[in-house]
Amino acid sequence: MIVTCLDLEGVLVPEIWIALAEKTGIEKLKLTTRDIPDYNELMKGRLKILNQNNLKLADIEKVIDGIVPLPGAKEFLSWLESKFQVIILSDTFNQFAGPLMAQLDYPTLFCHDLIVNEDGRIANYCLRIPDAKTKAVQALKGLNLKVIAAGDSYNDTGMLKEAGAGILFRAPDNVVKEFPQFPVTQTYEEFKIEIIKASNKLVG
Ligand SMILES: [Mg+2]
Repeated sequence: MIVTCLDLEGVLVPEIWIALAEKTGIEKLKLTTRDIPDYNELMKGRLKILNQNNLKLADIEKVIDGIVPLPGAKEFLSWLESKFQVIILSDTFNQFAGPLMAQLDYPTLFCHDLIVNEDGRIANYCLRIPDAKTKAVQALKGLNLKVIAAGDSYNDTGMLKEAGAGILFRAPDNVVKEFPQFPVTQTYEEFKIEIIKASNKLVG
């Protein structure tokens, strides 16, 4: 049996932090896992900026309420779910993901949690487990499942390496260059073709 593990932001929905940067005009919030390989460094920087600008969870929720899935994402996900088991492995947070999951008809999501103060400020974040995406793929393989993993950023490359097959979707040039072993796809049609190719290889 094949399980496909998909990244969320950049693959099915736009980057939440970029939407927030655009809404608030804070340029530094535009940095994502596509730019900074160290997730803890990235998140610490983000929380500092939020607190410096007195931005609370409710402010971010307002921005997230305005985000819709990427064009074609929902259809792509339905197609994928009709062919394989699907788990979304994301480094986002449960507090952010809710409205986006509703728009995608609630696929299975493994992500992290924010620690929110009584006054609604984001005090910290709690990673469910370090390197959660890679660990999830390892665990699935331990259950004798074959895994296809796909994502767009540095934080996906661990799971792409660990999976039986890894695919990049709309990855930035720096990630494509650093990880030439993975096929690169730009449209959902190309993505489907690579997933079918990978599945044929894995079961063949
Ligand atoms: Mg991503």
